[in-house]
Amino acid sequence: MLLSKKLASIAPSSTLVMTQKARQLRESGVDVISLSSGEPDFDTPDHIKQAAMRAIEKGQTKYTNVDGIPQLKDAICAKFKRDNGLTYSPDQINISPGGKAVIYNALIASLNEGDEVIIPAPCWVSYPEMVRLAGGVPVLIQTNFAHRYRLTPESLARAITPRTKWLFLNSPSNPTGQAYSRTELLALADILRAHPQVHILTDDIYEHLLYDGGEFATIAQAAPELYPRTLTMNGVSKAYAMTGWRIGYAGGPPALINAMAKVMGQTTSNAASISQWAALAALTGPQDFIASSNATYTQRRDFVVERLNNIAGVNCPRPDGAFYVFPDCTALMGKTTAAGTKLLTDIDLAESLLTQAHVATVPGSAFHSSPNIRISYSSDMQTLIKACDRIEEFCATLT
Ligand code: PLP
Repeated sequence: MLLSKKLASIAPSSTLVMTQKARQLRESGVDVISLSSGEPDFDTPDHIKQAAMRAIEKGQTKYTNVDGIPQLKDAICAKFKRDNGLTYSPDQINISPGGKAVIYNALIASLNEGDEVIIPAPCWVSYPEMVRLAGGVPVLIQTNFAHRYRLTPESLARAITPRTKWLFLNSPSNPTGQAYSRTELLALADILRAHPQVHILTDDIYEHLLYDGGEFATIAQAAPELYPRTLTMNGVSKAYAMTGWRIGYAGGPPALINAMAKVMGQTTSNAASISQWAALAALTGPQDFIASSNATYTQRRDFVVERLNNIAGVNCPRPDGAFYVFPDCTALMGKTTAAGTKLLTDIDLAESLLTQAHVATVPGSAFHSSPNIRISYSSDMQTLIKACDRIEEFCATLT
């Protein structure tokens, strides 16, 4: 079969590719440590599972409203008010099968051929590909280590054109873990004020994974005048260790929310009914899981950052949140591994780390930033110690 031209223009998800390669190596008997995946290693809290089981027992297993059950929409409105000081009514809420689907539905509902979407890089692997699939043009802006991988107002101003439809923001970020402060968001808002054609899609999925007492900021709250053109996206995947349940949500302008429901009505229909009831328990039930998992993540982050920075040639900024580190590996380029591989790119580095040190990471180029690697510290401490030992030994033998 001749596949679609659109598909040919998009890259497969490299995080999934790396996880797959690591799995294959493991199945062949090699003791591989996988630090490539993008999900919490914790189990979904019990009270959430119980809510799902009750939903099954009560027969809440049928189609629901296309863009979500009213009870969950109410809980999302309450969450936005409680955590972000944002007022949304239920007709401004979309619930989709995962945060990824929220973004895709928003793009399909809003992009016309050739519309531009500004994406600060490094960025989550799926953003540019989803924009392309929806007929838009991703416009990547490189951020850098010196600016702690944040978009600067000057580079934002330079990238905006009359065709700019969306600006994507993601804080804390996948892959860097860096988070914007309220002041930094206000500086971006100052630029956006002069460009009413630009809408903002803020991906807040790592909102609750923010450490060291950092205060979470989101743009519609920081700059209320941008609220009417902001889609504030979030989900339960990362905060409540619910990646497999597939529930994402967003608050935004009613016309866009309606359009997203129209897309869902002809494609996926509703997110799984049982998962919606589980997400309701996540948002309205005890929140202590967040504090306890954050304490664990903080400890792991501090350990991994220190170990990596002790390796010559690896420069690892300390992330504010999420569960990734994104070290710069410029100084390792050009070196040769003990097995004779010359490291010319971060792909060479990630592949050699996998096949020679048996540690799976993701090359920075997957996130449009090189030469870096992304390491997920969503693993127990013993695994992280072993992985850092292996990376250190591997780097020590480079010549
Ligand atoms: N946004 C970012 C930045 C992510 O890293 C991810 C998942 O890896 C998502 C969105 C999607 O989350 P979900 O599992 O809810 O689709």
